[in-house]
Amino acid sequence: MPRSITATHCPYCALQCGMNLTGGTPEPVEVRPRDFPVNAGGLCQKGWTSPALLDSPSRLTAPLIREAGTLREASWDEALDLVATRLRALRAEHGADSVAVFGGGGLTNEKSYLLGKFARVALGTSRIDYNGRFCMSSAAAAATKAFGLDRGLPFPVTDLAGADAVLLAGANPAETMPPFLRHLRKARASGGLIVVDPRRTATAQQASLHLAPAPGTDVALALGILHAAVAEGRTDESYVAERTAGFDGLWRIAARYWPEHVERITGVAAAEQREAATLMAAAENAYVLTARGAEQHATGVDTVNAWINLALALGLPGKIGSGWGCLTGQGNGQGGREHGQKADQLPGYRSITDPAAREHVAKVWGVAEHTLPRQGSSAYELLDAIGTEGGPRALLVFGSNIAVSAPHSSNIADRLSTLDFLVTADIVLSETSALADVVFPVTQWAEEEGTLTNLEGRVLLRRKAIDPPATVRTDLAVIAGIARRLGQPPDRFPAEAETVFTELRAASKGGAADYSGISYDRLLRGEALHWPVPSAAHPGTPRLFLDTFATADGRARFVPVEHTGPSERADAEFPLLATTGRVLNHYQSGAQTRNIAALNTVEPEVYVEVHPDTADRAGLRHGDLARVRSRRGELIARVRWVSGIRADVVFLPFHYAGAQRANLLTNPALDPKSRMPEFKVCAVAIAPAKDT
Ligand code: SF4
Repeated sequence: MPRSITATHCPYCALQCGMNLTGGTPEPVEVRPRDFPVNAGGLCQKGWTSPALLDSPSRLTAPLIREAGTLREASWDEALDLVATRLRALRAEHGADSVAVFGGGGLTNEKSYLLGKFARVALGTSRIDYNGRFCMSSAAAAATKAFGLDRGLPFPVTDLAGADAVLLAGANPAETMPPFLRHLRKARASGGLIVVDPRRTATAQQASLHLAPAPGTDVALALGILHAAVAEGRTDESYVAERTAGFDGLWRIAARYWPEHVERITGVAAAEQREAATLMAAAENAYVLTARGAEQHATGVDTVNAWINLALALGLPGKIGSGWGCLTGQGNGQGGREHGQKADQLPGYRSITDPAAREHVAKVWGVAEHTLPRQGSSAYELLDAIGTEGGPRALLVFGSNIAVSAPHSSNIADRLSTLDFLVTADIVLSETSALADVVFPVTQWAEEEGTLTNLEGRVLLRRKAIDPPATVRTDLAVIAGIARRLGQPPDRFPAEAETVFTELRAASKGGAADYSGISYDRLLRGEALHWPVPSAAHPGTPRLFLDTFATADGRARFVPVEHTGPSERADAEFPLLATTGRVLNHYQSGAQTRNIAALNTVEPEVYVEVHPDTADRAGLRHGDLARVRSRRGELIARVRWVSGIRADVVFLPFHYAGAQRANLLTNPALDPKSRMPEFKVCAVAIAPAKDT
């Protein structure tokens, strides 16, 4: 008899490749790629090995409670009762804001939604934010400024296949989402793939033009390319006149950024800036795409707006076959920011400061508007307030491993250790869960149902393929179990995903990200539903902005931006700039992929990429151990000589734990608008480990 096949999606990145699962207890689960538009039958190593964690020996299978300093197994009732008792006591003694909630961009839409509601209604706290703040918040803020609305790619991924030119700024999809590259074949074949990155990454190696600016100088580079396009008469003047506003204000700044001047700031040759302008302007169809390399700066919003400005000057956004877009990172990086787990937002991508939005959502939740808390602080600020007067005394973490992924992570670990009470819901005992007072073991992707919204704003249904271990529960059940013990009526916090989704649809109705016309039935039928979908008969909106942008007057905005550079500069004590990022075989904090032998054996330890000239001057041979120091911490990393990295830059992957955390070094300077930390540049020194 043929085995049943479950069509679902990968548990990892924002591409959300389609896959088929077969097997299950007692047979092993097998994965095969599915011919879904974003991956067209491809998977990367992470997708191929994704079933390995389902029956991993690292898997948590019982709730854990800390007793006399160690974690012991407990029953679900004991763990849930303890959490409710402690939270009630802390709230009574220190107020509602003494309890904080931290979510994740990998959580399904249903979990994101219920977590936001749980914080605002069951706990009454303003203190909720999530790790997407560390991921895409700068692009979201920049796109909202420019277009009045943020959706990662405002067009289907498959549109990219028709592009003659694509400029990738701070994106390395050859390692982060390899099947995505198949959509760039035409651009590569046309000689129009341009990659902006201080490293010659696997993606840059496939480019016709690799621009390697000093970290933190992208704003100047984008202004230089725009200047070159204007000077050579290559902008789309009729588009600028008809569909945009604010070009004159931008040009008053950009006029000062002629390519030779920009070369002195960025290190990118003036001729290369002009070549980029020519390639992009000459293409019939062209895209500018940005990712974390542009966003994770204390000037991340300005940096993304600088690249959007270039796209607008070339007349790209809002046209079929051209545009600007952001490659989101986490599996639900897009949906995770739309349903209320972000400090400043309510479901439907509504602002928590908007009185009409508050009224609408409060009505759906069955509470009075005035009981909804105000806007809370951003992720790093929330964590950094722990242990301070009036700061959080309890923290509940879902879908995030902040002990590894937060910047200046020694500070965050210190902060977590001062909490009165730390609760996590996890698949394995992550570094954050290892610090917790209570750990709930939760289900994984293939063991549960739920929706995600991929990088193109398409809502997808991840389907349950196998039963979970009998002793684990879903995150939704954990939230519901605590809420009921805090006195909430059971129907206010349902634990069934489809029931939660039905309520999410009502809460999102009329918002920017309107899901009200989406149903599990439509998704099961395979309909391609890109939000907004405002009614059950609506076909979805694969392309935004074709007629008008979402601003008051329908015109996109040029945002005047000026180069200021990174928060921290190289100096005599810290003469190099470190940047961090992902590698092919790991994902985010590595909590999942470090537990998959086939992936971890390929990249088992932190390393530091150094240019051979720089390494030589420091007395470091390829394979040596180096001590890498910043103003906040240090680590020991294996040296890799890499000739394709700038001589003034070193690179470290951020997937490793304990003393190997790259975030021991990183700078928590925050973007003033998005509150994004500056993960992508900090000043460091390197030396042989034995000498220091
Ligand atoms: Fe999974 Fe992303 Fe790899 Fe696709 S590219 S298989 S979604 S990790």
